[in-house]
Amino acid sequence: MSLDAGPDFVRRHIGPREQDVATMLGTIGVSSLGALIDKSVPGGIRAGRELDIDAAASEPAVIAELREKASRNRVLTSMIGLGYYGTHTPPVVRRNILENPAWYTAYTPYQPEISQGRLEALLNFQTVVSDLTGLPTAGASLLDEATAVAEAMTLMRRAAKVADDAVLLLDAQVLPQSVAVTQTRAGALGIDVVVADLRDVRDAAGLRAAAGDRDVFGVVVQYPGAAGEVVDWRALTAAAHDAGALVTASTDLLALTLLTPPGEWGADVAVGNSQRFGVPMGFGGPHAGFMSVRSGLERTLPGRLVGVSLDADGAPAYRLALQTREQHIRREKATSNICTAQVLLAVIASMYAVWHGPEGLAQIARDVHGKAVGLAEALRAGGIEPVHKSFFDTLTVAVPGRSDAVVEAALDRGINIWRVDADHVSVSVDETTTDEQLAAVAAAFGVNAPQASDGTEIWDDALVRTSDYLTHPVFNTHHSETGMLRYLRALADRDYALDRGMIPLGSCTMKLNATTEMESITWPEFADLHPFAPADQTVGIRELIDDLEGWLCAITGYDAVSLQPNAGSQGEFAGLLAIHAYHQANGESERNVCLIPASAHGTNAASAVMAGLKVVVVKTAPTGEVDMDDLKLKLKQHGETLAAIMVTYPSTHGVFEDTIAELCDLVHEAGGQVYIDGANLNALVGVAQPGQFGGDVSHLNLHKTFCIPHGGGGPGVGPVAVRSHLAPYLPNHPLSAEAGPDTGVGPVSAAPFGSASILPISWAYVRLMGGAGLTAATETAILSANYVAARLRDSFPVLYAGQSGLIAHECILDLRPLTKESGVTVDDVAKRLIDYGFHAPTMSFPVAGTLMVEPTESESLEELDRFCEAMIAIRAEIQDVIDGKVAAADSVLRHAPHTALSLTADWDHPYTRAEAAYPAGVDPLRKYWAPVRRIDGAYGDRHLICSCPAPEAFED
Ligand SMILES: *Cc1c(COP(=O)(O)O)cnc(C)c1O
Repeated sequence: MSLDAGPDFVRRHIGPREQDVATMLGTIGVSSLGALIDKSVPGGIRAGRELDIDAAASEPAVIAELREKASRNRVLTSMIGLGYYGTHTPPVVRRNILENPAWYTAYTPYQPEISQGRLEALLNFQTVVSDLTGLPTAGASLLDEATAVAEAMTLMRRAAKVADDAVLLLDAQVLPQSVAVTQTRAGALGIDVVVADLRDVRDAAGLRAAAGDRDVFGVVVQYPGAAGEVVDWRALTAAAHDAGALVTASTDLLALTLLTPPGEWGADVAVGNSQRFGVPMGFGGPHAGFMSVRSGLERTLPGRLVGVSLDADGAPAYRLALQTREQHIRREKATSNICTAQVLLAVIASMYAVWHGPEGLAQIARDVHGKAVGLAEALRAGGIEPVHKSFFDTLTVAVPGRSDAVVEAALDRGINIWRVDADHVSVSVDETTTDEQLAAVAAAFGVNAPQASDGTEIWDDALVRTSDYLTHPVFNTHHSETGMLRYLRALADRDYALDRGMIPLGSCTMKLNATTEMESITWPEFADLHPFAPADQTVGIRELIDDLEGWLCAITGYDAVSLQPNAGSQGEFAGLLAIHAYHQANGESERNVCLIPASAHGTNAASAVMAGLKVVVVKTAPTGEVDMDDLKLKLKQHGETLAAIMVTYPSTHGVFEDTIAELCDLVHEAGGQVYIDGANLNALVGVAQPGQFGGDVSHLNLHKTFCIPHGGGGPGVGPVAVRSHLAPYLPNHPLSAEAGPDTGVGPVSAAPFGSASILPISWAYVRLMGGAGLTAATETAILSANYVAARLRDSFPVLYAGQSGLIAHECILDLRPLTKESGVTVDDVAKRLIDYGFHAPTMSFPVAGTLMVEPTESESLEELDRFCEAMIAIRAEIQDVIDGKVAAADSVLRHAPHTALSLTADWDHPYTRAEAAYPAGVDPLRKYWAPVRRIDGAYGDRHLICSCPAPEAFED
């Protein structure tokens, strides 16, 4: 396809022009793009024909198609509840965060000096969760409430000192999707789960009896319960602690503004979903799940944790605490496989709290509670007694034999309520519920319109919250729109995202997230659907899901896809569960070994462990490929018990390995399944199909290859794609027959279609590019990577290349020899790149002491050159150290990044201020100023502060 004459959008998505391609090919020394692909991609795996995807459509046409799909959803008022509620996203937050590329195109804050804005927002999130749950340490988001319950299960299992065969006890009022996801996870680990009514448990003997005369390691309660009831769990908690078990409360942040927080009645862990803090329901997600823990458990928290530390000038600065633990997910020693989380949504939820403040939040909660109480009184006056005396926002109502009729009557009035069973319905009130809607619901029950009460708590005094929360100034300052706008701007200005320049991260594919792709996600027809809304109201979004599944099959060569996993890690887990179920169905349940090459992403091994598999590492050959001799040895050793191999293709070394087809054959011969980690699919789309060259299952990352923006560390979507023999074992969902096969492995996400509301982004990308455009993107990504490698090879050795001397879509620059010679580290180079106006490449993954660069197809030749020239200039700075002109410790590299403040302070460096701030080629008009200097991570880990610090925290 011509990059100059092709469809408009393709030309806008792909950076280089036709003439640039010629220049780049010249630098690489290859005659044509076709020749480059022929030489770099092994012939044996090349797709034989063009992608079977429709031709590209224009941006206006794609928006029109999306409007048409949207119009086939029917957005009714949702009073379904069950963890998802109507909420008003403050417009100032919607426009300036959710619709602002400064926030949504940012990367995970692994380079904290250029991520202070989102790190502050995440610290605010942790403070909100910690204050409201009454537990001292909260993490920076989990994937959803149901997976958070599952994470709490494994945390409690590790922390409880009880027998190995002890069980997990769930109260009967835990949300049904949380029960189901927890059962999926527990099943893989061989943990037994018992669901029972725990309201009357008073002592350790009662607890044991409830568990069917078994020891218990953990208890989970929903607070308030799924049916709405507010229960005092103190006696149960004391009983659990007596028995050596831990207690998790799955809870609701809005209710906790009025309810005694779990931390005050003894819970060890609190989890939940922050959705109703301003994040639309979105047919199930994305939203930020959360977890907080009592002291003593902070080092076992899954996911990321933001902490406070100091920079080189002693100024306070934020960074990910205990980060090395998290960045590499600790492989088989992992306690969780979470990498991509829900940063953007956590930021929105935190800003909802900043915007409303503690008083505003309590007022919203009282208003919601008052409406629910009013509805209960109206029902009572009409002779219908709600089932529970104590509730916050949800009423369960007995309507013997009439529940279908009542649900229907509500539907006629434009409202979805929940059918619990033939004799009961439930109704949830939220901040968006109007008096008219309450009157309509009352009419559906055949009673008179309610009068809202004043919102005074109707539950026991023992559960009325008396403690303060959100007293920090950040929650009590930015309450005017002018103030809020400026606070959001100030934070965004501290960060480097794709709206400033290239983010050349290996393995993460930071490509264009086009505005047209983003546009529809905030349309009410997609944003305001409840995930459990009746299927006839969600026709449009499910059509879109079907389209996308079909296209992903066409691209990957697999037969079936599930979009339910809400991150790559969850796709991995789902894929491994499918493999396990398949072996079991074949009577080979002894197959439990998962081979993983040494270079694999940390999530691979962590997912294997979660799926109940035993990890066996396969060595890497000196050339960077999987060591085939070692593979053969491991196959011999484990053949009988081999379940699968997990390989990334092209490998995390950035190379198309010639041996992939042979590797797949060997594993299949040994009776194993081949899991191909598809995170690097940006090098394959239109060129080769993992489902055809030997893979049985892959996960893809829509937040890498398919343009869902990184969001500063989430959201993501990690579809799992399988060949037909594994299709019966894809995820399904207890509350949605449409979500997967009856024979499925159970749900891996809370919502039937995971993070459904961001799927229009990837749908739009495929429509806008068409088959030829997608292929051109892949070819250009490979071209750009080879161009960067060719330009930088003389300055920094490229660690691995294929037999042709070419690489795939990314390359590893080996700094180790230079570090040895000069003392200048990868850290020094990464931080110095900030002075030059760049986000650093991936550091020390998959090889310590190296940088991995993936330019993607979206960067122009001009931007690629700007990056290469910065790297070459840095190489010259390193040479000065090698030549003895300056000591590493005094060099401009070691003191990077330089803030504006540091330039105007006393200056006793052997380099000038101009050399520090405007090194070769930096355009003063485009200068990005880091807000802090290099951050001391170790200091922060020794003095762990993970919520908004009081200013005194930094006094000497
Ligand atoms: C990003 C990545 C993953 C994990 O995906 P998440 O969405 O972050 O969970 C797994 N494998 C590889 C090779 C990756 O690059």
